[in-house]
Amino acid sequence: MSFNDLGLSDALLKAISKKGYDTPTPIQQKAIPFILERRDILASAQTGTGKTAGFTLPMLQILNQGKHLRNRPIRALVLTPTRELAAQVLEDIKTYSVFMDIKSLVIFGGVNQNPQVNALRNGIDILVATPGRLLDLHNQRLLSLSNIEILVLDEADRMLDMGFLRDIRKIISLIPSKRQNLLFSATFSQDIKKLASSFLHNPATVEATPENTTAEKVDQLVYHVDKSRKPALTVKLISEGNWQQVLVFTRTKHGANRLSEKLVKSGISSAAIHGNKSQNHRTKTLDGFKKGDIRVLVATDIAARGLDIPLLPHVINFELPNVPEDYVHRIGRTGRAGASGEAISLVSEDEVAYVRGIERLLNQRLPNEVIEGFEPTEQPQGAKPDNRNKRSGKSRPRSGGGGNLRRRR
Ligand code: AMP
Repeated sequence: MSFNDLGLSDALLKAISKKGYDTPTPIQQKAIPFILERRDILASAQTGTGKTAGFTLPMLQILNQGKHLRNRPIRALVLTPTRELAAQVLEDIKTYSVFMDIKSLVIFGGVNQNPQVNALRNGIDILVATPGRLLDLHNQRLLSLSNIEILVLDEADRMLDMGFLRDIRKIISLIPSKRQNLLFSATFSQDIKKLASSFLHNPATVEATPENTTAEKVDQLVYHVDKSRKPALTVKLISEGNWQQVLVFTRTKHGANRLSEKLVKSGISSAAIHGNKSQNHRTKTLDGFKKGDIRVLVATDIAARGLDIPLLPHVINFELPNVPEDYVHRIGRTGRAGASGEAISLVSEDEVAYVRGIERLLNQRLPNEVIEGFEPTEQPQGAKPDNRNKRSGKSRPRSGGGGNLRRRR
């Protein structure tokens, strides 16, 4: 199937070809026709599946077909959990609407509201927002939601994780009941299902990947190692593997800072990104990482959520998340839109139970290995040592360097 078969306008096809896409991704193939038919959508899609274009392209087409009203009221609202994701969605909207007369804007908290308010006064067709700042400006009567025709909830599961349920309900109560609703979520908890059934009308269900499974292209591997040796092992993997663009996840903000400092001391350019950093810092750091000036980005789950880093070859879980679904989100950073990637988890003895939780969720065993010189000195709890891969010799096919590092036990 090509983009031509999806019923998109010439202006959009031109923008898609300018961006260099040949083929719509599965979520785009499935979602775009339904959205153009003005159906509500319940979509299961992680970051990396092309979901943003999946809702943006048909939304632009619908808005462009309609008439611009006087004063240009907001006609489409996209809610996202984080500022970074909001900024990226706006970037995509701008890219795809380059040949259209559509005005879009992003608003989020943590920065001065005045430039956002001034831009709103000039009239906006599509508003991308985080829930807090949106309600804040609405409460100050600085924006109106009474002409919304399309509502998108992007990464709805993460919005609920971050405690935005009340805000979302409030926002829904402020917009006209006759509208089209598009809900995108990587996972489907009971809470998401409840939210979906409360406001979607006869939704078409579309799935990019089966529920709670990881992208097939991601090569996953667990290295057992003592907690205290993890920083040194991270340095070894990155430098000996000559990895050039690596996203490392830590569980805490302090942990992210500490590891990033350690990497820098070892001669590896690195920066930490987490909720305590200013918006400016986060934007600059992400830009530096995308351009290749920063080799390693150390992030907490919330900060990394929704980052659009194409062709990211390496993800390291410096610590495992205690929520197995977060593992799925994390490794969704790699192997995106057709590229292959590698996700490595450094697992200390106290984290073995998390591996089991992840394996249960994925319904698959993760291959596990030990690296020579980093053999754990503590016996893992809850896992028999003979669960580990003791085979020697043959090496697994690798997507990156460092193939000579491993020794299986
Ligand atoms: P998303 O899941 O929306 O975060 O998109 C993941 C990445 O895939 C982004 O870098 C997009 O630019 C890219 N992408 C989206 N659609 C396509 C497509 N049809 N072909 C190739 N890449 C795409």
